[in-house]
Amino acid sequence: MKIIMHGAAREVGRSCIELQSKQGSRFLLDCGLKLTELGTEYPVGLDQVSSLRAVFLSHAHLDHTGALPLFDHQGMRCPIIATPTTKALTRLLLEDALKIGRLQHAQLGYEQLDIDKALACMSNVQFNESGTIDGVPYQYFDAGHIPGSSSIVLALEKKRLLYTGDYNPQETLLMHGGSQDFDDVDIMITESTYGDRNHLPRAATERRFLQRVEDTLALGGKVLVPSFAVGRAQEMLLLLARKDWGVPIYIDGMALEATQLLLEHSDSLKEADKLREALRKVHQIRRGERRKILSKQSIVITTSGMLTGGPILEYIKHAHSDVNSAILLTGYQAEHTNGRLLIDKHHVYIDGWKTAVKCAIEQFDFSAHAGAGELKSVIRKISPHTLVVQHGDPAAVEHMRLWAAALGFDVRTPSLNEVVLID
Ligand SMILES: [Zn+2]
Ligand SMILES: [Zn+2]
Repeated sequence: MKIIMHGAAREVGRSCIELQSKQGSRFLLDCGLKLTELGTEYPVGLDQVSSLRAVFLSHAHLDHTGALPLFDHQGMRCPIIATPTTKALTRLLLEDALKIGRLQHAQLGYEQLDIDKALACMSNVQFNESGTIDGVPYQYFDAGHIPGSSSIVLALEKKRLLYTGDYNPQETLLMHGGSQDFDDVDIMITESTYGDRNHLPRAATERRFLQRVEDTLALGGKVLVPSFAVGRAQEMLLLLARKDWGVPIYIDGMALEATQLLLEHSDSLKEADKLREALRKVHQIRRGERRKILSKQSIVITTSGMLTGGPILEYIKHAHSDVNSAILLTGYQAEHTNGRLLIDKHHVYIDGWKTAVKCAIEQFDFSAHAGAGELKSVIRKISPHTLVVQHGDPAAVEHMRLWAAALGFDVRTPSLNEVVLID
């Protein structure tokens, strides 16, 4: 078979891997885009999309789903296999991307109609349930990354292939840890986002975060918690709702929308009842109420996680000169984002205006990806014959390659548009 890397090769973004049998049957693992400061980057070298037999979708993040409407527009009509939660979240995230794209006059190359058509092609699969498409048996497993996220096992030409998707074997407040028990895997295609780095233990990060909230409130400040809408916002909600802080907690924007949607798909959560209860304890914010909220002490959870847009900018606009308030970043901040600028230069751009931020700023690693040590232990446990390392920056991929080669794995680290041949 051939494994063709249309994206996510020595990069994080536009995951799109083609599997091609000797008879010419073609399948895709994910179909995403990459958003950079230069604009939108799509998978490379993928043509004749009308002859694809199926897309196996791992999860709803745009770097795994964002190209689906574009290829639908170009004539892709095959089934797209995903969990019901992934399907619901994909609609939410694709429509949000379209809305933001319109606001910023960015060219996404598709319209609402293409999103609707792509979603109409989606067929549901539950965790641990197996199916067959075009003679290819497949099974989806909980990947522990975001709700609905899956690792996928399929069989092609008598070889068992595991595609990890983005995954996290560690349990969090929101999610069970991802599945690790896979037998007889011949080919493992793994993510490597943190291939050269480890995370601090989650419990220590949680403690440090809660302490920072307490210290800020003791100073009389407000606490802003920018979060990714899916997964992170709900985890922060669960963490903060554990305690009565004596001030209100607010949840706003896509963070609220995603929480409500996830409660409709509660089987993808570790403890849906706890999330439901946490949501009951906090205040849900509508547009127009934001300025009023910040006139008093409060804790606000909202999007976007990297301050690239969303209500968080409106809150920062009101709070930026308050030295007693704090902005607690809850995840990775990519280069050239407001979040990165805030850490490095203590300013952000709001509506095109450079705004100096005097609040305290701290970053916490609540990652939803396996750290290097976890990746290595999962790979050793599964012990595949061939290991394909992707979805990582060049340094992370190279670190994993050296480690796997030293242990005697047949390790491949393909570059963009490279074809990996498997005998
Ligand atoms: Zn992801
Ligand atoms: Zn990803």
